[in-house]
Amino acid sequence: LVAVTGLTKAFGDNHVLRGVDFAASSGTTTAVLGPSGSGKTTLLRALNVLETPDAGLVRIGDVEIDFATLPAGKKARAETSRLRAQSGMVFQSHNLFPHKTVLENVIEGPVQVQKRPVDEAVADARQLLEQVGLSEKADQHPFELSGGQQQRVGIARALALRPEVVLFDEPTSALDPELVGEVLAVIKDLASQGWTTVIVTHEIRFAEQVADQVLFIDGGVVVEHGTSAQVIGDPSEERTRQFLRRIL
Ligand code: ATP
Repeated sequence: LVAVTGLTKAFGDNHVLRGVDFAASSGTTTAVLGPSGSGKTTLLRALNVLETPDAGLVRIGDVEIDFATLPAGKKARAETSRLRAQSGMVFQSHNLFPHKTVLENVIEGPVQVQKRPVDEAVADARQLLEQVGLSEKADQHPFELSGGQQQRVGIARALALRPEVVLFDEPTSALDPELVGEVLAVIKDLASQGWTTVIVTHEIRFAEQVADQVLFIDGGVVVEHGTSAQVIGDPSEERTRQFLRRIL
């Protein structure tokens, strides 16, 4: 379960998130759509506490923080790292360690951060690499892989932390068009395996096919949310209609 209430974040005078509310139940896929600069990435980064919200409640699994009342100091850092550990993030470009093999990249978090036994982490990583179709690449280095393969390693690496929710920030926007399909196929597969995912994407047709819930964000608020059939197929807000007309 992911639940967000009244989330706000400003960078100086730029009020990027102005009170975002949404909830996603376990095992569902949420697609976040919206124009450039509307706050989608900031929302995702706030869920992972890469940006500290100014106010608002974020709950992921059994960890909840009310950012309005979060005290400064050590206790706050402990709380935010507990919340951060609930989500795994897949970025636009993968940020893999270049000097480590694919397998070493995938076990890095479980072994170094979660202190899990190496043999257990390796077994888990091999299974995840199989899931993203990269079993044979385990011992290669990132530079030996295509952009799409690298991004699939990035997905395996996020899953290896067994997070409550996997957050994708425009996971295909840095890829050559012919590599987009293979990454979207892996993400689609996660949905059918019961992972909870939140995906910021400009791939409207993909969102339409895969998402259980679509959020349309504009000006730092959720303007409209519902099933993909409602929000993409039959939007009720004029701002959503305008956005879809522009990009479809
Ligand atoms: P896009 O679709 O273009 O990626 P977005 O909806 O993801 O856009 P954000 O990346 O969340 O939008 O950015 C929203 C606004 O916040 C922009 O005006 C951006 O300049 C500003 N912003 C984001 N991060 C920071 C930061 N670290 N410092 C200052 N301003 C920031």
